[in-house]
Amino acid sequence: MKRVHIVGGGLAGLSAAVALARREIPTTMYEAGPQAGGRCRSYFDREMSCRLDNGNHLLLSGNQVAMAYLATIGARDTVMIPEVARFPFCDLESGERWTVAPNIGRIPWWLLVPRRRVPGTRLRDYLALGRLVRVGPEMTVAAALGGLGPLYRRLLEPLAIAALNTRPEVAQAQLLAAVVQGTLGQGGGACRPCLPREGLSESLVLPALGWCAARRGRLITGCRIAGVRTESGRVVALQGPKGEIAVGPDEAVVLAVPAWVAPTLLPGVPAPDAFEAILNLHYRSAGLSAGLPPEGTFLGLLGGTAEWAFVKKGVVSVTISAANALLDVAGEALAERVWKDLRRAFSLPEEMPPVRVVREKRATFQATAAQAARRPAADWPARHAGLTNVVLAGDWTATGLPATIEGAISSGIAAAAAVRAG
Ligand SMILES: Cc1cc2nc3c(=O)[nH]c(=O)nc-3n(C[C@H](O)[C@H](O)[C@H](O)COP(=O)(O)OP(=O)(O)OC[C@H]3O[C@@H](n4cnc5c(N)ncnc54)[C@H](O)[C@@H]3O)c2cc1C
Repeated sequence: MKRVHIVGGGLAGLSAAVALARREIPTTMYEAGPQAGGRCRSYFDREMSCRLDNGNHLLLSGNQVAMAYLATIGARDTVMIPEVARFPFCDLESGERWTVAPNIGRIPWWLLVPRRRVPGTRLRDYLALGRLVRVGPEMTVAAALGGLGPLYRRLLEPLAIAALNTRPEVAQAQLLAAVVQGTLGQGGGACRPCLPREGLSESLVLPALGWCAARRGRLITGCRIAGVRTESGRVVALQGPKGEIAVGPDEAVVLAVPAWVAPTLLPGVPAPDAFEAILNLHYRSAGLSAGLPPEGTFLGLLGGTAEWAFVKKGVVSVTISAANALLDVAGEALAERVWKDLRRAFSLPEEMPPVRVVREKRATFQATAAQAARRPAADWPARHAGLTNVVLAGDWTATGLPATIEGAISSGIAAAAAVRAG
């Protein structure tokens, strides 16, 4: 293989580039935006005068593919990995607080210690989680786990919404099962919450670009690919902003664009077509530190609008997932509402500090059975469109995982393998 052309510079495209560079295959990546990273990026916000992540992203130490990616690109130290798994929660209605604290090893003895569990739960509630192994594709998260009382409402529901970005009443239980298997199912050691020290780009994007650049991997930004030209079962050119980019006989293409773009480049490709928003509200934290827990910590919030609060450098950032219903709420009104939640959780002043509301409208595909059935494999173009030198990547392809960092990186690796196999 002389060169692989990668369309899209999100984590899927980056991980394909890294996997190909490991095999000494040169790559050129075409990214429509001004920087790589896609839905997982950092940028300088002039009004807030600080660097922000587009949204808080949580990795778990059990996300093996993501951890291996970080190790390959030399960025593992850019992520904070705590020694133990701790998930603190606050119920905004009752004021109750608790911390879920699984032990590190695979034998879950923490379940025998009531203060490490969710208040009001019994050991047998946790054992019922085993039913996730047997769920069929049509079973929803709420149908599978909704009967587990406080364990569901105070832990499983918020975790499922965060992992699947979809309301549990419609979210596919199988996708949650895949997450649980790789994390909680492996013991507390695999559940340690990992956050970037500086920002998403500093951990997941810039080190990958540097690593690839040293191995004949190029990035061209501001380069939207508008179409592909095919001849005799091969892609022979990409339509770039300045004209055609030739794809030579010994060259291949990885389409690592989002689900809503792929069918415009490859007509007929199945792809999820229903999406969920994630909202992030970043409040400037200068002067608030006395009322906040230390930088690098987070808190799960129940009973309000805010779902997770992260204390970061210069900001306290709130995430609200599965947020389509909030897209029409005006920024100021939403910020006031969420600030009230934060004040109930922490000792903060009444006056709201400057805030940036980031709405990622199509943050992920809806993790429903119907949408999961629309996910193609990396080699779909060869199998179904007779195109032998193009493969697919993206968190929406058939990784078996929800749309996550782990899923996106896995998809890039699968695409790189399919390129080599093709
Ligand atoms: C707010 C938010 C919070 C999230 N939180 C988490 C979390 O806590 N944990 C977690 O694991 N995951 C989280 N995710 C999901 C994770 O960010 C995504 O699954 C992942 O980043 C998707 O990567 P991707 O490469 O598949 O797609 P994208 O990031 O969308 O990359 C596709 C790239 O293709 C480019 N592109 C599009 N069209 C063209 C074209 N025609 N030509 C060239 N380039 C093109 C785009 O600009 C983009 O850069 C979150 C996502 C969001 C939005």
